[in-house]
Amino acid sequence: MKKSDVYFTDFQATMTENLPQKLARLLQAADMRRIDMHNKFVAIKLHFGEPGNLAYLRANYARVVVEQVQRLGGRPFVTDCNTLYAGRRKNALEHLEAAYVNGYNPLTLGCHVLIGDGLKGTDEALVPVGGEFVREAKIGRAVMDADVIISLNHFKLHEQTGFGGALKNLGMGCGSRAGKMEMHDSGQPEINQALCAACGLCARNCAHGAISFNADGKAAIDSARCVGCGRCIGVCSADAVAGRFNETNERLSRKIAEYALAVTRGRPHFHITLARDISPFCDCHAENDRPVVPDVGMLASFDPVAIDVAAAALVNAQTPLADSLLGQAGAGPGQDYFTALHPTTDWRACISQAVKMGIGSTEYNLIRLK
Ligand code: SF4
Ligand code: SF4
Repeated sequence: MKKSDVYFTDFQATMTENLPQKLARLLQAADMRRIDMHNKFVAIKLHFGEPGNLAYLRANYARVVVEQVQRLGGRPFVTDCNTLYAGRRKNALEHLEAAYVNGYNPLTLGCHVLIGDGLKGTDEALVPVGGEFVREAKIGRAVMDADVIISLNHFKLHEQTGFGGALKNLGMGCGSRAGKMEMHDSGQPEINQALCAACGLCARNCAHGAISFNADGKAAIDSARCVGCGRCIGVCSADAVAGRFNETNERLSRKIAEYALAVTRGRPHFHITLARDISPFCDCHAENDRPVVPDVGMLASFDPVAIDVAAAALVNAQTPLADSLLGQAGAGPGQDYFTALHPTTDWRACISQAVKMGIGSTEYNLIRLK
């Protein structure tokens, strides 16, 4: 297997080089400029963080990437797609507000913020995959319309996938709501009637006549009619509609890999991972517990598989912080921390599926910068 180059540097800053400058140097060393960005739309895919979570990446890092793209003549925008679960990022208006609250706006970034799958999470492109698990991926249209994709990933542990890195940011993160449902479950949402306010909005938005009401006006979904578009999730202000999240973690991980293929195939892509504030759970949580290991560093690569494998190895080489969930669980050197903390997860399934689909390599040269 051909080795991919993964560039790495730590978070040590000096009086003459701060962290944004160091990240810029890393991107230059990793030769991001090999991508022809002149007059191209460049999607920078990241996670704005659920409000309340403080482990997500600061907008300052994204600004560095934006400036590098602009220097190369590209037209960058920062993007993410709506969530499947109820929260503050489930439609474009709330999602933009969450991004602004967390510091992502044109002033801080130097470019615009676009929600990739539109107002209600239904603006999607159908991308043929022909995978083992996914025939046709449903990807946010703005993401697919971009000429170049850059993933800017916050590396952290994850309760369903072991960790979240490049492949997860691309595969799950770029899925429209229907795409996220396809990865997470049977592809149809359900309604919690205890939360339903009987407003009728979901039925008015359902183009397939799949929503009916009981005598109390509470909504229910007819699975024979529902096509899993997810529009009803985005319109329900009572957060009564949600995905079922009933897929196994192994199949979820493999589907994520196949979605990542849909996002990257046939166009230039580049990946940046910041392994800091390595929290035990996803940034979708509205809180973040203490980091489980010390900050590790910044990585950059053309290969989303290699960068994930390299980041995982660097994290596993750390000693768990004693007062963290990982430390309290008794994990120590030599263990795989991702499965130690989240035993039902299978991050290697995502990696092996990505390799099988030809996305990248698990073999890499780690090129360390001072
Ligand atoms: S939009 Fe939400 S609150 Fe309104 S009827 Fe549908 S499920 Fe109930
Ligand atoms: S997910 Fe199903 S019930 Fe909801 S709007 Fe789409 S088709 Fe209708």
